Amino acid sequence: MGLQVLLVEDDAVLADGLTRALQAQGMQVALARDGLAADQMLQGNVPDHPAPDVAVLDIGLPGIDGFEVVRRLRTRGAAIPVLLLTARDAVEDRVRGLETGADDYLVKPFATAELIARIRALARRHAPKPAILALGGLSLDSATRRARVGERALELSVREWGVLEYLLQHAGRVVSKQQIIDAILGWDEDLTRNAVEVYVSRLRLKLDGAGVAIRTIRGFGYLLEADPAGASSTPPAIPPATPSATR
Ligand code: CA
Repeated sequence: MGLQVLLVEDDAVLADGLTRALQAQGMQVALARDGLAADQMLQGNVPDHPAPDVAVLDIGLPGIDGFEVVRRLRTRGAAIPVLLLTARDAVEDRVRGLETGADDYLVKPFATAELIARIRALARRHAPKPAILALGGLSLDSATRRARVGERALELSVREWGVLEYLLQHAGRVVSKQQIIDAILGWDEDLTRNAVEVYVSRLRLKLDGAGVAIRTIRGFGYLLEADPAGASSTPPAIPPATPSATR
């Protein structure tokens, strides 16, 4: 699957030319011809348009301009990389674009090859990172929900997973029992602080040899930190089988 690019450009000739050029590079192009249409597509409100990997936005657009589209996008907390196209060779436009939350800009006229290179660079820089949390010998893969200590798979209950994931997300910081409870519970569930203590003590047993420690901060909560002293020493190498003596 090629990169999904949202191209927002009101100049029909330029839009068609760019669409063809990007498609020739194996990219999937969705086209919006004004700012409001772009805003809708970036909100995922348009069926049959997958969320784009990169948005290429003209600044001068009918309806709302490119700056406003970016401003709304960032206000929603969306992290999609944005490249602005400006016809104006004005420094203020570029500064304003970057301050609004755009990641890059190109001044018209530009070479199509440069646009393609910039799109690829933005997509690379923003590629989602694997959701793996790690500390010491412990690693948690949130995508597959697998936990390991070194090569050893760790069997965790759903609640134990929740507690450990929260501690690991906040490794090196003190978290309260209430914070843990709030993080792992649904709105209709109930969990006591004593239960958290039970999960933590089970986790401590399971994390033996992981090179991490869950410290109790008396009267407050817990702190997960690396503990090199707690790492299991490298298991002794299995000696090569000695050839059995001939009888
Ligand atoms: Ca324009």
